[in-house]
Amino acid sequence: MTIQWFPGHMAKARRQVTEKLKLIDIVYELVDARIPVSSRNPMIDEIISNKPRIILLNKADMADAKVTREWLDYFNLPGSSTKAIAIDSQTGKGIQQIATLSKELLKEKFDKMQSRGIRPRAIRALIVGIPNVGKSTLINRLAKKNIAQTGDRPGVTKAQQWVKVGKELELLDTPGILWPKFEDQEVGYRLATTGAIKDTIINLQDIAVFALRFLTDAYPERLKDRYGLEEIPEDIVELFDAIGSKRGCKMSGGHIDYDKTAELVIREIRSEKLGKISLERPEKL
Ligand code: GDP
Repeated sequence: MTIQWFPGHMAKARRQVTEKLKLIDIVYELVDARIPVSSRNPMIDEIISNKPRIILLNKADMADAKVTREWLDYFNLPGSSTKAIAIDSQTGKGIQQIATLSKELLKEKFDKMQSRGIRPRAIRALIVGIPNVGKSTLINRLAKKNIAQTGDRPGVTKAQQWVKVGKELELLDTPGILWPKFEDQEVGYRLATTGAIKDTIINLQDIAVFALRFLTDAYPERLKDRYGLEEIPEDIVELFDAIGSKRGCKMSGGHIDYDKTAELVIREIRSEKLGKISLERPEKL
């Protein structure tokens, strides 16, 4: 799905999420476990304000487990009404914790409602997140059927429907779509490396330069192993040359094809050929 993010659209998207917040008890903020900060909306705290929230580190199956644990510690501050868990929406791993944790976070509110004589009802939740973070996949997993074909688009209104998740939880069937922090170039590169934004938006060679520099710094052994390098050349052109020649990314005449090399590196990162990778760590914030 392509969404044009003009200021007007952003304002509308925000308004739509704000409207939905009135209907629900708790927000599930979906982020990509590999880039938990870059895949967040920059205004999320302001938008969600004081609603209880669970940050769901989705696609944890593709992230570096050690780094994901660091993120869980970082987000799960004691006494906070925001909690975080790691999940994999594609297989459903970890998603059973969502209802349990929601009940814990809302216990006081629901106990109070009961003591005032209000009949017990299901917890109502809204999933929010940037495009491609896995919102529809998660709704379908939780609902155990195909509900959310596409998320709702800013500007298109449709009747809200509740999706039952067991007896105690109900989700709005259309997630809230928010935008990432476009102005920050590093954020753009991280989103592009994971495939969250279209490859045509940022030049593929630029993405590969960013990704290779990151791998050189954070996962040098994997880079060496994958491309049979004894040492990683400091010069980025030499690194492209080394990978390109090892993998036969050449043009007629024998010159290295940098586009092809960039495409190969990005494709291999996204398909986990270099292992499970996290592109952001809390300690580096
Ligand atoms: P949405 O735009 O937020 O609704 O994102 P989608 O639900 O359409 O998911 C975007 C892509 O991410 C799809 O190709 C999904 O199959 C994939 N995806 C979603 N959740 C996970 C996950 O937990 N692990 C992995 N590996 N892929 C996922």
